[in-house]
Parts: sequence; C-alpha cells; structure tokens
Amino acid sequence: MRYRKAPIHTSHRPKRREFIISSLTMGLAMSLSLPSTRADKVMPVVQENKGRVPKTSARADLLSLFLCGDVMAGRGIDQILPHPGNPILYERYMKSASGYVALAEDANGTLPKPVEYAYIWGEALAELESRQPDVRIINLETAVTRSDEVEAGKAVNYRMHPDNIGSISAAKIDCCALANNHVLDWGYAGLAETLAALKKANIKTAGAGLNIREARAPVILPVSGKGRVLVFSFGSETSGIPWSWGASENKPGVDLLRGFSAKTIRVIADVISREKRANDVVVMSIHWGGNWGYEVPAQHREFAHRLIDEAGVDIIHGHSSHHVKGIEVYRQKLILYGCGDFLNDYEGISGHESYRGDLALMYFAGIDPATNILADLCMVPMQIRRFRLNRASGNDALWLKDILNREGKKFGTWVESEADNMLMLR
Ligand SMILES: [Zn+2]
Repeated sequence: MRYRKAPIHTSHRPKRREFIISSLTMGLAMSLSLPSTRADKVMPVVQENKGRVPKTSARADLLSLFLCGDVMAGRGIDQILPHPGNPILYERYMKSASGYVALAEDANGTLPKPVEYAYIWGEALAELESRQPDVRIINLETAVTRSDEVEAGKAVNYRMHPDNIGSISAAKIDCCALANNHVLDWGYAGLAETLAALKKANIKTAGAGLNIREARAPVILPVSGKGRVLVFSFGSETSGIPWSWGASENKPGVDLLRGFSAKTIRVIADVISREKRANDVVVMSIHWGGNWGYEVPAQHREFAHRLIDEAGVDIIHGHSSHHVKGIEVYRQKLILYGCGDFLNDYEGISGHESYRGDLALMYFAGIDPATNILADLCMVPMQIRRFRLNRASGNDALWLKDILNREGKKFGTWVESEADNMLMLR
C-alpha cells in the first residue's frame, strides 16, 4: 500500500485510535475529557436575543465579511505543498509529518504531490470568488517556519514551510488571527519567521507579535465606501495556550487573556476605544475553550455579551473547537462561539467521529455599515477531504443545520436551508 513507502519514522504502525488529534497539551486534554453534557448551565436567553436578522441574502450595500475557524495548513498538508518543510515530528506516536499524508491516503486514496497552492481551498475558492466578501479573516492554526526549536511539552507542534505561504495567499486572506495555541510551536524563532512570512505575503496579522504592543495592535481593513473593519485577536489559556506564551513589553508572544473578568473587559475596552473611530466595525477574534464538545461555558457567554455591551465589539469570532458550535445574536451583534476547523490533516484518524469534525462552514456575515448591526449570516457547508475543501453533500448540510438548530436553541437562533445547501440564520 502507498503509505508503506512513506518515510514514517516509527518502529511500528500504530493503531489509528492512538493518534492525537487534539491540539491541546496532554494535561488539558485530560482535564477536558469530562462529559460535555454539563452544559447546560448557561445563562438564560435575554430579551435582546429576540431581535431577528432579516430574511435577506447578501446585499451589495452591506459590509461583507468571510470568517472561518482554524486553518491548519501545516504538518501533513505542508508535505503535499510545493515546498514541504522538515517532516520530523516529536509526537508520541507519529515521528514524521508524512505519516499524516499516509493516513489520509489510506482513508481516501492517493493524494497528488505536489499540489498547487490553491488546491487546499478546493471549492471554497469558487464560493469566495462569487461572493467577493469585503474582508477575509481566518484563524491560522500553525506556525509558518523552518525553525527546529520545538516547543517541548506539547502533544503536537504544527509548522508550514514559509515558501508555502502562497497557500494562504491563494484565498486572498486579508487577516490572520494568531493568538492561538500553535503559533509558538517552534519557539520565538518560529514566531518571528511566521510574522515575517505573512508580512512578506501582504497578509495582516493580529494577536501575536515581537512584544505586546505588536500583538495587541488591531488589523485595520479599510473597505471602500463602507468604512473600516478592525480585527483584534486574543487567546485564552482554556484553548491550551501555555501561560508562558503571553507577550509582554519586552517579550514576544500572543495577546493572552488573563481571564474573563470585569478587569479584562476594562483593559480590552480601553484598547478598543483608543483605536476605534465612529462606525468602525470591530471584530474580536478569540481562541478559547476545548477542541470537542458543544458546551458554551457561562463565563464565555457573559464575556461575549460584555464585550458587546461595554467594549464596543460588533462581532465575536470564536474558535478552537474542532467542530461548529451554536450561534448567538445578542443586541443584533453576531457571536460565533466556535467556528470549527476549516482545514486540517486529521483525515483518516478515528475518534470523535460523532462531532463530524470533517464538516466545516464558511461564514458570510453582512453588516449594515450605517448601524454596525448584523443584517444577515449565510453559511456554506463544506467537507475536508483529501486535504482540501469540497462542498458538503445535501445530507451533511442538513446534519449541520440540525446541529446549529439544536445548539442555537438556548441562544434563540435557528437556521434554514436554502438553495445549494446554503444555510441562513433566521
Ligand atoms: Zn487551537
């Protein structure tokens, strides 16, 4: 079989279930193995949620944003791109990134190698092309580096070779949120190279930097005739970010949330007020919570509400979960608690199948530029297969719809199917 020829530096081929697909550190993974059904200690649905979004599809007068969750284009995916980096891994069971290629091929057939940069976006590219969103924002869940300074103590370390940065540019991404639990997987050298590679490709970054000022500075995206979008990126230790990764005055790192307290809200409100002009649309991208489970902790919900109420945030772009989570509209502002993975190399790995982590959503939010309120949200269901995005089947789109409705119930939101399997928030 094809995978046997791949240079997997393991003494035996481990059983699939042994692979670690969580991007958490081992310790946190254990702490999150509690049943996720404790869930439902959530705050009551508040009156403001009843403001429904109108039944419209994308309108040219709206400020349109494309948002998605984790884009993990490193490790196995890096190995099929034109410039694969050093494949050596330091994971417990897998010692070469090519092993993840072999697993994917084992599951779904031989992958072309090398692929063109655009390959990984698959059918998502046509969707972006036809919708032409004003801004495109992703959480980039990998370092972009040749660094071999592996961050010890982590279960997995992701890297993509900087010469493969064309794979991110191929989707004309404007902004990468970087305050996550992988940007420092290959040390400070890896972070510096990641920032430089993205800058060279004209992709703006938020949430990580060579000091806290850089990490905290928003990405400012002017949109002709519609104003500006400001993107802030923060990471929470609940997503597995080590405390030591927090940036400071003289230390590189990520903009790490010190918790979800009123004090944190005040700090963020202060940062935003210094940057925000009237009518700017503020996106708060937050990497928070575990990889699996639909629970939205009460403190996350309260934090999101307070960011909207007290800090002037217009959209919460939450991620870290490997699958989509429920959606809330609070005071006519969008809260995506977990966008789910958008690209990864987990294909062929078993465990957690019931969450359907292979299904992804492209979120297209339309914001009224006069009022900054959410006018519409349309979602395009995709499936990650053969290391690329493909349109999800009708049945899979319905499955996603049911999940969003089950999880949206407690937030007072629901979605309906439209043509081409598209899902609209009502
Ligand atoms: Zn993560």
